[in-house]
Amino acid sequence: MTSKQNKDTTPLSSLEDNPPDIEMYLHAIFNNTGYPIFVKDEEFKLILVNDACCSFFGLSRNQIIGSTLAESFPPSEMEGFFAIDRQVLDTGKEVICEETLSPSGLQSKRVLTRKNRFEDPNGNYFLVGVIHDITESKQIEEKLKRAASVFTHAHEGIMITDANGTITEVNTTFSRITGYTSEEMLGKNPSILQSGRHPSEFYAEMWTTLLAQDHWDGEIWNRRKNGEIYPETLTISAVKTTDGLVQHYVSLCTDITAIKQHQNQLEHIAHYDLLTSLPNRVLLADRLSQSMLQCRRHKQSLAVVFLDLDGFKHVNDAYGHDVGDELLIALSLRMKEALREGDTLARIGGDEFVAILAELTTSENFEPVLKRLLLAASEPVIVGNVVLNVSASIGVTLYPQDSVDADLLMRHADQAMYVAKESGKNRYHLFDTAQDDAVKVQQESLEAIRIALDNHQFVLHYQPKVNMKTAAVIGVEALIRWQHPKRGLLNPIDFLPVMENNPMSAEMGEWVINTVLTQISQWQKMGLNLPVSTSVNIAAVQLQQPDFTQRLATLLAAHPDVEPRYLELEVLETSALDDINNVSKIMNDCIALGVNFALDDFGTGYSSLTYLRRLPAHLIKIDQSFVRDMLNDMDDLAIVEGVIALAKSFKREVIAEGVETIEHGAALLKLGCDLAQGYGIAKPMPASDIPQWVADWKPDTSW
Ligand code: C2E
Ligand code: MG
Ligand code: MG
Repeated sequence: MTSKQNKDTTPLSSLEDNPPDIEMYLHAIFNNTGYPIFVKDEEFKLILVNDACCSFFGLSRNQIIGSTLAESFPPSEMEGFFAIDRQVLDTGKEVICEETLSPSGLQSKRVLTRKNRFEDPNGNYFLVGVIHDITESKQIEEKLKRAASVFTHAHEGIMITDANGTITEVNTTFSRITGYTSEEMLGKNPSILQSGRHPSEFYAEMWTTLLAQDHWDGEIWNRRKNGEIYPETLTISAVKTTDGLVQHYVSLCTDITAIKQHQNQLEHIAHYDLLTSLPNRVLLADRLSQSMLQCRRHKQSLAVVFLDLDGFKHVNDAYGHDVGDELLIALSLRMKEALREGDTLARIGGDEFVAILAELTTSENFEPVLKRLLLAASEPVIVGNVVLNVSASIGVTLYPQDSVDADLLMRHADQAMYVAKESGKNRYHLFDTAQDDAVKVQQESLEAIRIALDNHQFVLHYQPKVNMKTAAVIGVEALIRWQHPKRGLLNPIDFLPVMENNPMSAEMGEWVINTVLTQISQWQKMGLNLPVSTSVNIAAVQLQQPDFTQRLATLLAAHPDVEPRYLELEVLETSALDDINNVSKIMNDCIALGVNFALDDFGTGYSSLTYLRRLPAHLIKIDQSFVRDMLNDMDDLAIVEGVIALAKSFKREVIAEGVETIEHGAALLKLGCDLAQGYGIAKPMPASDIPQWVADWKPDTSW
């Protein structure tokens, strides 16, 4: 202490006057430092501890004083303590050691202990130790270390910027990805990484999201120091203070170049044919729907060209698959060259290819291309020392002329290709949409008729047949109607033509016969016995069924109360002519069952005498087309006269159809035809109206 200090500092000068109780102060310091302090003798026995030491070990002063605390610590730890104690006592040199204390019953602690030796006036050595509990700071340190190691070793590139976006830290992975060292990056703005692949709106949007949500993630193209552009996934998070101010931004990025490459590879495999590298079926479907869209937008056409090689199988069989593969590769290259830019050529199967010829303005556009394709396929290909010759059959359909979906376009082109094959190969054939439409309509109609049959939508109307001279109702003709759920009551012309030659017409015919037989039996029960018959029109396919007679017999047998003679079958003159031998045999067999026949629409066929002679129909129906015009048209009148005369000479009865007026009736009577049917007498009506009509009918007085 200097004399200056002594003079100026009152307390100290007063200390000199009244020496303080040093012991008391030391004692107070000793117990209030907060650091555990202990004193050991040369046998390591504790002889003095402060309060902090007691509470640090969780023991009372009594428990500590005089002991070595050997019971309170694991032996291994104790050995360590003693070794250092020994060293300090022996050398007198201060030791500061970091050690772990695991006092029994307490949580282990990390401490820094400073140990010193001092000597008492008697020359005895003592050891004084001061303990720093560094457990907590150690934990913080560890945590920081871990954080730092995460930062350094992270698999992601990490970049930290301040609130203004100035880079303050980057990790090694970041440097590895970008090629910039941390020195090069610090103080810079991340925009130096921009690749130029994203428009400025992209970055503006990124910032908007980041500011609004404190977070942005997505994929981004960046540029490395060496100029290379690469894709990465990027996550940016704003780190804020407790008052909500942005402190800094942390970005994590992962270079996904390899993933992208792998993805591209997979995509290639998924979309391209391995052998020829042409688009495969999947990509073709995609391109086709794209092109169709374009077509609609720009009012253009496109052609779907289905190409199948002729004779490819032979090449495979004769020279093996390797040669076949080489041929396919060579041809696909050639065919691709035959196309125009913008056209697509795909391989969709073994030797099947499909080309899309896009942006056609006129139909002529595509024919030269087809010719080039044919040529490309048919020119010889040399593989090794063999010369291979194949050709192509091509089917084409045009969109939107063929206005169907992509799948159907392919099918239509495929169908057309078959036609090309069938008609001699090495050629192309254009799909006929009109024909296809007709087939489609036909199919739809047939399906609807099928449903109608199953749902009992058909009904029979009956048109009376009369004898104008005797005023007798001689029978009725059953005429089918379709009670259509939407279109109302349909006449046969609306559905029979579709069914022609379809097996359903036979099924329908049987339903008609069965219904008529049921109807006759009902009328009979009501006491209405039509003197002659109810006639049923029989379609050619039905009549020519090999077992028609048998089937008719079964139907008749199901109605034992109806005598077969009440049933008359009307056969078209034209259908009877199809196969006269067969038809006349069937007719004879049926007549043997008891039913009768009429020849319908007579005059529209050959009306040959021989045929008439061979067909055992008892009644001839003069076709209504002649009857309708017989009053004005001399030719028709002559035909009517001729048919009547023919019938008479063959001893057949004759009836006129389509008798629309009283005058027609009168004229027919004059010609000797007494039987008539037509609107002039009655229109076809529901079965329930027949009894009343029969009861009321009277011939016109002029007849
Ligand atoms: P179809 O056997 O010659 O029958 C006569 C057709 O002429 C009927 O037409 C009838 O309504 C109509 N008709 C009758 N009188 C007159 C008239 O004075 N003037 C005019 N303009 N027409 C008259 P619908 O019922 O339309 O039948 C047409 C054809 O459909 C029938 O000609 C027959 O060939 C066929 N058809 C009708 N029902 C059946 C059936 O159940 N099975 C079969 N396979 N064909 C049937
Ligand atoms: Mg008829
Ligand atoms: Mg007729």
